[in-house]
Amino acid sequence: MVGLGVDVYDMPAYTSANVQGTAVLLAEMARAGVTKLVLASSMVIYGEGSYTCVRHGSVRPGPRAKDALDAGVFEPPCPHCAQPLMPGTVDESVPADPRNVYADTKLAQEHLAASWARMTGGSVTALRYHNVYGPRMPRDTPYAGVAALFRSALLRGEAPKVFEDGQQRRDFVHVRDVARANVLALEQKAPFAAYNIASGRPRTIADLAKALSAACDGPPPVVTGDYRLGDVRHIVASPARAAADLGFTAEIAFEDGMAEFAAVNA
Ligand SMILES: [Zn+2]
Repeated sequence: MVGLGVDVYDMPAYTSANVQGTAVLLAEMARAGVTKLVLASSMVIYGEGSYTCVRHGSVRPGPRAKDALDAGVFEPPCPHCAQPLMPGTVDESVPADPRNVYADTKLAQEHLAASWARMTGGSVTALRYHNVYGPRMPRDTPYAGVAALFRSALLRGEAPKVFEDGQQRRDFVHVRDVARANVLALEQKAPFAAYNIASGRPRTIADLAKALSAACDGPPPVVTGDYRLGDVRHIVASPARAAADLGFTAEIAFEDGMAEFAAVNA
């Protein structure tokens, strides 16, 4: 199960599909003599991305306070001095800090897969996908990614609704690039290795909404100031390790990929 989930009643369904489901898969792989797993992991395991404080250097902000979000203060402050922070890029060595049930289940998958590799001598390559988009994304479901939600709104003739102030940053990577990363990962032999699968060229959510509105010839986006408590502000990755070890670099430009995505009626 993907997406943030809708409410607390989703917890059993998420853990059953993503955690128990993975455990069943791994046991059956061992029974069948399968020794290689490419795991569709996620950048959500990092929680908030990396930030720098002018006084305290590299810091990891905690979850944002509801009072601050209600007041329209969306940037997470320094956990030590509450001053504004500079967002940076996360690499794969950053400790996990999952912030919602989906993220909890994705991290559990990595841990289960690593245990499976130790027990069986198999090899796991965990690809931490950033915001994947492209043809055949599910439509009209609250569990879809933000690109699919915006496109669904535009197809109904409605303006995309942008949460917070639209300045939150994500890395959008095209599904064909992601498919190529998976093929490259099949060649990896390490017992367990994790890679960010990202374009390395982050955009704001407002940029995404504007690009899709323009490509669909639809109404301009509306910035609502709404928020979801489990969301993080910026999550932007370094794609350097995937480039070095897998030979993977995303090739599809944001503008080209979004224009194609807007036009595809599937
Ligand atoms: Zn500070």
